[in-house]
Amino acid sequence: MVSEPYDCVVVGAGPAGLSAALNLVRARRSTLVLDSNRPRNAATLHAHGFLTRDGIPPLELRRLGRNEVEGYPDGEVASARVERIVAVEDGFLVTSRGIRGERDREVLARTVVLASGLTEELPALPSLRVYYGTHLHSCIECDGYEKKDATLALIGESDDLAERALLLSQWSDDLIVFTNGVGRISEAEEAALAARGIRVERRPIADLAGDLGTMTGVRLADGEIVARTAGFVRPRWVPALGFAAELGFARDAEGLAVVDAQGRTSMPGIYAAGDSTPPGPQQLIVAAGAGATVAATINRDLIGAL
Ligand SMILES: Cc1cc2nc3c(=O)[nH]c(=O)nc-3n(C[C@H](O)[C@H](O)[C@H](O)COP(=O)(O)OP(=O)(O)OC[C@H]3O[C@@H](n4cnc5c(N)ncnc54)[C@H](O)[C@@H]3O)c2cc1C
Repeated sequence: MVSEPYDCVVVGAGPAGLSAALNLVRARRSTLVLDSNRPRNAATLHAHGFLTRDGIPPLELRRLGRNEVEGYPDGEVASARVERIVAVEDGFLVTSRGIRGERDREVLARTVVLASGLTEELPALPSLRVYYGTHLHSCIECDGYEKKDATLALIGESDDLAERALLLSQWSDDLIVFTNGVGRISEAEEAALAARGIRVERRPIADLAGDLGTMTGVRLADGEIVARTAGFVRPRWVPALGFAAELGFARDAEGLAVVDAQGRTSMPGIYAAGDSTPPGPQQLIVAAGAGATVAATINRDLIGAL
């Protein structure tokens, strides 16, 4: 049943969405956060680099944020997957399907924040999920420190592997880049990496090698095992914005929601923050900062000009 419009419906309760919601409710804006509870960093046990919360379990960070939002009379957070948003007179109609026993909803919103993040498609190696989040990571800035001086693999199928290898060399000088026969590294890039002691392995990968849940190497398709104790993978990042397909805001070549410096998309009333905006994958504190920015923008836009 459709009731009075919320000042804002936020899609996603990651740091971007919760930070937006916290600042909106503090501005006395009725705010509903709808979240399908599939955070991008769910695979990790510890989140790093968030000032005052370095090393916190990701779910604990979310729980704290959600409690803060729900501590205000105008804040509501619900477990639900948003399936569709359409423009209606004076706002938007948001349709969601409840999860974890929560009800389906159809609500009106004067504004919407897209804070639904990204989904990750990892290289198709049979055991990758066994090691992802413990031995293998994707965010170099987030988890590089914990892997410092380890024998590292960088595994990817993209054309930015040389750039990522260069970044990773800040944390370990024992690094091999695995292209799985797909990722592109030019001869000039390979020579530049070799000058820093970084080897490029272009043979296809069969799987990761391990012993009782501990990664020991990368097994190539020809049977050779290259000893490595940890590493980083380069996923393909896909925006989680399918529910907004009927809204006409501008997107970049990756399908991310293009925003101005204040978080406005090209469509009045639709805002976005966090990983679902360019350049895509970021960090928790960056997403939280974008959420705070967008909340201030929405509050001012709803007040209107003199
Ligand atoms: C494995 C891994 C480890 C990481 N470690 C760190 C770290 O240590 N430190 C750090 O700073 N950063 C880390 N990051 C990056 C960090 O997780 C992201 O930058 C950050 O979570 C982005 O915040 P967000 O709010 O934009 O999106 P998310 O945190 O991904 O939140 C988006 C939310 O939207 C929800 N959602 C999606 N679609 C819908 C829908 N249709 N309806 C309702 N809800 C929806 C999702 O379920 C999710 O809860 C890591 C990332 C990964 C993948």
